[in-house]
Amino acid sequence: MKKLMKASVSIFLVLTMVFALAAPSLATAGKCDCGEDPIIYVAALGSATLYKDADTENEKVVFRPETGDYVKMIGSLIVPIVKLVIDGNYDDFGDSLVGAVIDIFGPLANAENGDSTPDITTKEELPTDPTHSLEHSYYFGYDFRADPLVVADDLNEYVEHVKALTGHDKVRFRASSMGGVMAMAYFSKYGSDDVKSVIFQNCPIKGTAVAGALFCGEVEINPTALYRYASTAITTMVPGAGGDILQVLVKTLNFVGLFKGLTDFAGGLVDKLVGKVFDGALIPIFKANCGIWAFVPDEYYENAKKFMLGDNPNEELVKRIDAYHYGVQQKADVILNGLIADGVPVMIVSATNVQRTPLVTAWKNDSDGTVDTKYSSVGATVADHAETFSADYSQVNTACTHNHISPDNRIDASTCALPEQTWFVKDMMHCTTHDGHGELYRWFWENDDEILTIRSNPAYPQFLQNDIENQKLVPQE
Ligand SMILES: [Zn+2]
Repeated sequence: MKKLMKASVSIFLVLTMVFALAAPSLATAGKCDCGEDPIIYVAALGSATLYKDADTENEKVVFRPETGDYVKMIGSLIVPIVKLVIDGNYDDFGDSLVGAVIDIFGPLANAENGDSTPDITTKEELPTDPTHSLEHSYYFGYDFRADPLVVADDLNEYVEHVKALTGHDKVRFRASSMGGVMAMAYFSKYGSDDVKSVIFQNCPIKGTAVAGALFCGEVEINPTALYRYASTAITTMVPGAGGDILQVLVKTLNFVGLFKGLTDFAGGLVDKLVGKVFDGALIPIFKANCGIWAFVPDEYYENAKKFMLGDNPNEELVKRIDAYHYGVQQKADVILNGLIADGVPVMIVSATNVQRTPLVTAWKNDSDGTVDTKYSSVGATVADHAETFSADYSQVNTACTHNHISPDNRIDASTCALPEQTWFVKDMMHCTTHDGHGELYRWFWENDDEILTIRSNPAYPQFLQNDIENQKLVPQE
């Protein structure tokens, strides 16, 4: 009898304990059966406002700088410019320019090891509203200067929070631009158990040549690139008659040699000032910016370390930027194929046929204006901007039996990390979307119970044309 008592008491105690432990989760679980896992928008660079001395009387927004800051900066340069014109003393002008850049961007410099300094913070908070649908997504913002592998921890906390808040076991990611860097860092660290599907929109997964070239001190202003930048930017940003008129204007200016003249003048200026601006401003401000380091493509990376960090780099900083570069960016192939192997639908959207920023040596790379197509597509073979492959070009990767060459003979997607899950949008400016993109993403989310490919929907083959005027993405012909 006593034994039985003892046994039942202990069983009772065990059960009580089990219920006590389970209770909190039962209380909050409230599973949602809406059928739509919540979407987390992993936003782009600048997603979180950065404050200096937040919540004190000295609080100031340091990123993005406010219009007034730029006005002040330009104002502070008027006298030096006039002096430069009069006395031609580039050295003095260079000092004023460095001072102005430091004034506006100086607070963004991280500590030597790549951590933020304690006076610069964000005000990002975990969400409290459980509302979720395909139209209502959560917004994850972060300090763009931070180590992506640290941001990954914050993203993981955000994911856990959104799951609990909405009563779903999984979330969806829609990563835009730099958000893709953070999502990749997250997958490398936390795997994909909590993620139903992921869209990468114009993400510098393999970097962007602008960051690589600038971190190697390579600046070049090319007249052809400047002209094309002006004219393609107009076509994509100002549709209709207004755009046509601007086009004519740009072409006329090019004919009279303005772009050549401008770049000759600017090029001369750049040659004279570049060393001073790098040493005095760009290197001190950006050398420990782990986020920008994540943008440096492999072909620039080791040279960039020499140029930006010199002979005695901070060891902790090197360790962390190497951890992202070699463990995430250079493992992108493995990480992305791992997602597919785990049954996670992936859509990589890579934009093409826009002239990239005309101030770097890589101005020939086809791009969306900001991220090179070969890097956002994670490995496509891409003809130089405005050029095509030779007429007898055949696709590089013959292991794949489908045709992955674009109708305009400019892109070979067979060399992508995920040739079946990479969509190209011609004439799309970096992260500039409209209803057509919304429809593409909605189709993806409505069907992401299984792995989707470029053959899943005839309306969305691998190569799409951006139709800005009608806000549509249509198959490229
Ligand atoms: Zn739900």
